[in-house]
Amino acid sequence: MTYPVAVLASDNAATAQGEWDAVILIASSVDVCPIPDLKNALTQFAHVDSRVGKQAVLVPCEKAAGGRIIFAPTGELSRYFDDVRRFSDAAKKAMQIAQQAGSVNPLLMVVAPEDKRYQNALEVSYLGLCQALWQPLEAREALDEADIEPVQKIGLIAHAQNKPNVDWVNALEAGKRLARDLCGTNPERMAPPGFAEYCVDAFAGSGIKVEVLSSQAQLQQEYPLLMAVARAAVNVERHHARVVTLTYEPEGEVTQSLYLAGKGVTYDTGGADLKTGGFMAGMSRDKGGAASVAGLMRTIAMLKPKGVKVVAELGLVRNSIGTDAFVTDEIITARSGKRVRIGNTDAEGRLVLADVMTHLLELAENDKNAEFFSVATLTGHAARAVGPYTALVENGAARAKGSALALSEAGDLWDDVAEVSRSRREDFDFVAPRTKADDILSSNNAASAVTARGHQFPMAFLVLASGLENHPEIPYTHVDIAGSGVEGGDWQHGTPTAASLTMLAARYLAS
Ligand SMILES: [Zn+2]
Repeated sequence: MTYPVAVLASDNAATAQGEWDAVILIASSVDVCPIPDLKNALTQFAHVDSRVGKQAVLVPCEKAAGGRIIFAPTGELSRYFDDVRRFSDAAKKAMQIAQQAGSVNPLLMVVAPEDKRYQNALEVSYLGLCQALWQPLEAREALDEADIEPVQKIGLIAHAQNKPNVDWVNALEAGKRLARDLCGTNPERMAPPGFAEYCVDAFAGSGIKVEVLSSQAQLQQEYPLLMAVARAAVNVERHHARVVTLTYEPEGEVTQSLYLAGKGVTYDTGGADLKTGGFMAGMSRDKGGAASVAGLMRTIAMLKPKGVKVVAELGLVRNSIGTDAFVTDEIITARSGKRVRIGNTDAEGRLVLADVMTHLLELAENDKNAEFFSVATLTGHAARAVGPYTALVENGAARAKGSALALSEAGDLWDDVAEVSRSRREDFDFVAPRTKADDILSSNNAASAVTARGHQFPMAFLVLASGLENHPEIPYTHVDIAGSGVEGGDWQHGTPTAASLTMLAARYLAS
């Protein structure tokens, strides 16, 4: 099975018997329910159960498809700080009840106010249902998938004024599902070789070109910073590093090219700067950036957008600890030629990304309209500063064209929310060399969460270490999903969110 596929349905379906086994209604109150028979049933039931309108409840209704309505209220929608997440939150609660009640073919009906913020409320609610339905890959492999993920399709009731583009939401959910699988799976099943193979399988026949670099010797030569992180895993073949490059070339003319670097640390022990005090659990999800980027490519493979070329490169390594582990004070020459002094081995993601970005810069050499992104679970500081949001840090060229702002505004409408941070001179000062022995310092030696500008300064490092500083004309936005990559900020148990996938798709792929 793939994912609960969205199909179009009409208003009539909500009161027709046969195809659907429950109606899920997401709305601010019973009053706005557009179908009199259903509204009636809800009003009657409210007399005997005062939860109606306050929390998600199942209401029996003979006239409803499947004989039941699951009504999940959104709560207040009119205040300036309300956003479309009110719908996805309600949808997740409704789905729990629907599942417990045995519904496998639910019909989704959404009533949203006339307000730009809620223009995608139906689609976002569908994505919320899917988010709630996803089961981890290990569970699907060990148990009967049809048994633990019984919902195969969801009907989306279209209104005259709001006809959802089901191809679009299906492409989004297919991408998000791949991202959740890659991010949320244990560090042995999804070690770099397993991650790379999962990508090869997922993109077979999709039109996306997949290249996997496996040779440790070649990686050592071409990605020296990345391989410093991977060094303690070189003697463990099943943990060997990989670099995966995914390329989408549209038919016809290319007017814009996107280059995305994804951090795929399949397990982060912290390395010699070992994570202690219980902070290691959940670090199999340190591959969330690479997972989101791979998921975006899945979405692209289904949408086949015109005019835009997309190249994604995923740096997949395990940051292990051992006799050969890299340590602080080492000076390693990056692919860009920059001599990088290691400040802390737990600041490994930026090392992986820097070499990947240098390679992407080489690939982008002849592209006139290239735009760059790095996507990563990079810093605890991002989670501390803006969690549960994604943090965006852009360079001058990106700021000049309003890239991060446009991205966050697209995300606001699609339940993939971000905040924009500024890149400042202090960030560059922070990683400046102290002597001529090196060109750049990777990090200070304290947790980012207790470091001032702890999620902004790594972007400065990436600009300097990758060589992007020599291309100030290329817009570049660093996307830190450490605060948004899993639900509830729970890296050990929270469901992965595929953060940044939807906002990037909405910004660059929506027609
Ligand atoms: Zn780390």
